[in-house]
Amino acid sequence: MMRQVLLAMSRSRGLGRFMTTNRFAWSAANRFVAGRTVEEAVAVIQGLNEEGLSATLDHLGENVTVPAEAESNVAAYVEAIDRIREDGLRSGVSLKLTALGLDIDAADTEGLLERVVAHAAAKEPPVYVRIDMEASAYTETTLSIFYRLFERYRNLGIVIQTYLFRSDADIERLAALGAGVRLVKGAYLEPSEIAYPEKADVDEAMRRQTQRLLREDARAAGVYTALGTHDATIIDWAKDYTATQGIPRDAFEFQMLFGVRRDLQRQLVADGYRVRIYVPYGDQWYPYFMRRLAERPENVAFVVRAVIGER
Ligand SMILES: Cc1cc2nc3c(=O)[nH]c(=O)nc-3n(C[C@H](O)[C@H](O)[C@H](O)COP(=O)(O)OP(=O)(O)OC[C@H]3O[C@@H](n4cnc5c(N)ncnc54)[C@H](O)[C@@H]3O)c2cc1C
Repeated sequence: MMRQVLLAMSRSRGLGRFMTTNRFAWSAANRFVAGRTVEEAVAVIQGLNEEGLSATLDHLGENVTVPAEAESNVAAYVEAIDRIREDGLRSGVSLKLTALGLDIDAADTEGLLERVVAHAAAKEPPVYVRIDMEASAYTETTLSIFYRLFERYRNLGIVIQTYLFRSDADIERLAALGAGVRLVKGAYLEPSEIAYPEKADVDEAMRRQTQRLLREDARAAGVYTALGTHDATIIDWAKDYTATQGIPRDAFEFQMLFGVRRDLQRQLVADGYRVRIYVPYGDQWYPYFMRRLAERPENVAFVVRAVIGER
């Protein structure tokens, strides 16, 4: 119930304006958001790299409503990609197609995405660009854009949400293509007609789809799997499964969000696994932050105290 309320609130522009201008709210959001500027995010990634963690940089700013905002997000990604190579960071970038104008025009969005991906592909070595997956209204268009660009750019990857019924079929197609897939449970509010409402079913789908992506034929086709989760039970299962199947630790990676389960992030690195941290930055942090609260509603009391200034 709380999850639903928080996810509904995440879409409120009025609340977003209130929160992003409230001087105390930032101190709560800062736990999950690396900074407001690329400079601050770069410093965070340098620290992560020193600890053996790699990163993926996300410039926040989804659901833009005017083309100028989409253009400005492209410029932010071009700058971020330049900084990654200039500063020698072990990092890729992650982006949302609604930040590039998917609510305005899909063809224009595809053109803007290609600009970012081509810029990243021209680097030596190429910078990896991951398309995040948003609410189900965008799934089909996002995948179509991905499939078209993937024919020309191998530094492009995608995300699949295990809570959607359609995902087994999507995974099958991606496995045959040899695509890079980040598997996550899914962070949006979806109806039970298209998504599993029960955690047990979502977890089971995550295991099933991980197994499919890690199968020898998929790996031979070029699939590289990223398991994006903080769920210790799933992570333990993945460690056991890969060990018993003889799948090397560098054939896949775990991914976690900045500020979540730091203990587990470091432990996995100490155990010899690849771990990548999703590092968001920018002023438009409100919807991202609310999705993080929805994943762990226990954090809400701490935020309320921060926002009203009792610290
Ligand atoms: C790298 C990465 C990229 C992602 N990209 C996308 C994307 O493109 N599209 C999308 O829909 N979703 C994305 N997600 C979010 C994902 O869909 C889930 O909503 C989120 O990861 C929570 O699910 P979980 O697998 O961590 O486990 P859950 O079953 O939700 O939680 C398991 C345990 O993890 C811990 N935990 C989980 N979330 C939090 C939190 N916010 N704060 C503190 N502890 C927490 C708690 O200990 C909890 O008990 C991404 C997640 C990661 C890690």
